[in-house]
Amino acid sequence: MGRSVVALEKGGDVGGTWYWNRYPGARCDVPSLEYSVPWDKELEQEWDWSERYSAQPEILSYIEEIARRHDLKRDIRFDTTVTAMARDNARKLWVVETEGKAVFEAPVVISAAGCLSTPNLPDIPGIETFARPIHHTGLWPHEPVSFEDKRVGVIGTGSTGVQASTAIAAEAGHLFVFQRTAQYSLPALNRSLTSEELAEAKADYATIRNHQRNSFGAAIIEPPKAMKAFDDNKEARFAEYERRWNIGRQDLLAAYADIGTDEQVNAEVSEFVREKIRGIVKDAETAERLCPSANPLGTRRIIMDTGYFEIFNQDNVSLVDIREDPIARIAETGVKLESGRYVELDMLVVATGYDAVTGPLLDMNITGREGVELAEKWKNGPETYLGLMMHGFPNLFTVTGPQSPTVHANVIMGIEQHVDWIGDCLAMMEREGIEEIEPEHQSELEWAKVVEAIGSANLRAKDTNNWYTGGNIPGKPRSFMTYQGGLDRYRAICDEIATNSYRGFQLSPAKASVEA
Ligand code: NAP
Repeated sequence: MGRSVVALEKGGDVGGTWYWNRYPGARCDVPSLEYSVPWDKELEQEWDWSERYSAQPEILSYIEEIARRHDLKRDIRFDTTVTAMARDNARKLWVVETEGKAVFEAPVVISAAGCLSTPNLPDIPGIETFARPIHHTGLWPHEPVSFEDKRVGVIGTGSTGVQASTAIAAEAGHLFVFQRTAQYSLPALNRSLTSEELAEAKADYATIRNHQRNSFGAAIIEPPKAMKAFDDNKEARFAEYERRWNIGRQDLLAAYADIGTDEQVNAEVSEFVREKIRGIVKDAETAERLCPSANPLGTRRIIMDTGYFEIFNQDNVSLVDIREDPIARIAETGVKLESGRYVELDMLVVATGYDAVTGPLLDMNITGREGVELAEKWKNGPETYLGLMMHGFPNLFTVTGPQSPTVHANVIMGIEQHVDWIGDCLAMMEREGIEEIEPEHQSELEWAKVVEAIGSANLRAKDTNNWYTGGNIPGKPRSFMTYQGGLDRYRAICDEIATNSYRGFQLSPAKASVEA
């Protein structure tokens, strides 16, 4: 677009989530052939993904290659953390302060700070006294970490904890998995990609992209059977669950459209997954503890694993059920449970997730027009229009912001939609002589109703103890933090609003153009 751009990046290099999350076993849960940028047709043809689900090092080198091909690093200031940002009303500029570095000024700021990038460091009594190595998975060291002959504890059994535990179990002297809530996990059935599969995708990438752009989750997944689950007979339903379990994607969740909305249907599929766990884990008591029951299947981000439940058949792996026997405190050399049991550890791995979606924005201490603080505006939960902009914060755009689809769709395709929309908006502003754009407050209230109506219709609304609602962070207000209506529908709404003269936004002409 011919703009002058500077990108401020906290990390020491490109990669974002794939720069920080170097923990063992880190892998994408979206198939590699779909988890790639749709806008570089040469790279699409020249890059050969090695596995069905890529591991972190391969994705990071892919991102490195994008930066190299497009000479992106010259515009990025690495190791630059934004500490405060305020709108200067008089000069119509954002003034962006950074830790120990320069102050930057720009009429427009686009936050691409991510939605899972502010690590949640748990407030477990005594955690600061642990005197042996302790690593949060999202802040993993760049140097190799050896688990050999070590007693390693992993706290957390979300997507991250499951991946890390599976990898650490292969090397550690003994692994202790501290589980507070048992989770549903489906087999990823990861494997090498064949040259035929790569050639087939490359021959018709347009079809893959077209499908991604016009589907609910930007994912290639089998559509649900065209009936309510209980209108199908039991034998047919279980045959369908079994078939989808063996695909190695998230297809099981979509076997019937009412799995996400009908409690009884969901209960049947949840039990199907529990039976699978019982079939894998040999010790019946451990299997039962690993069986999720706190929430319906799919109300939290589904986990895709590569041999997770199987590690509990190894002699060097123990499950520590901290729902039944909670952690009392962490001491210098291990974890003390309320029962008095002491688990001595050489290393602690903290896989406790993120202050998701709003955390990265609030971390930047943003003050809008007339001194309004974002933290104050969002004290009861995020208020946005389309998850793209906030009233009182002119010319501040957010990518994968709260109340946008975020991880409900392949995030690369979600980012593409946001960036295209923002780019078109900036082009419109330049063309029309608009100096500032921001949503009306009323538009935010109406968007909140849309987000809530869709969110309430899903069983997810019944499970509020996870990052989709802010319930994973003590004291964080609970709300529907994501738009759950699908990327296809979201795209149509955003496009319609843009086409209708950016309905719901205030557009302020530049002074020069008013005078003219
Ligand atoms: P998460 O899903 O929020 O899981 C955090 C885990 O830590 C939960 O098991 C939680 O237990 C536990 N925990 C939190 N605080 C605790 C405390 N004080 N004491 C004990 N346990 C505690 O975080 P995540 O696993 O990092 O995943 C976050 C998201 O990142 C995922 O949902 C996914 O969207 C993304 N992700 C994707 C991939 C992939 O592509 N394969 C990999 C990793 C992450 P409770 O459930 O009881 O709260």
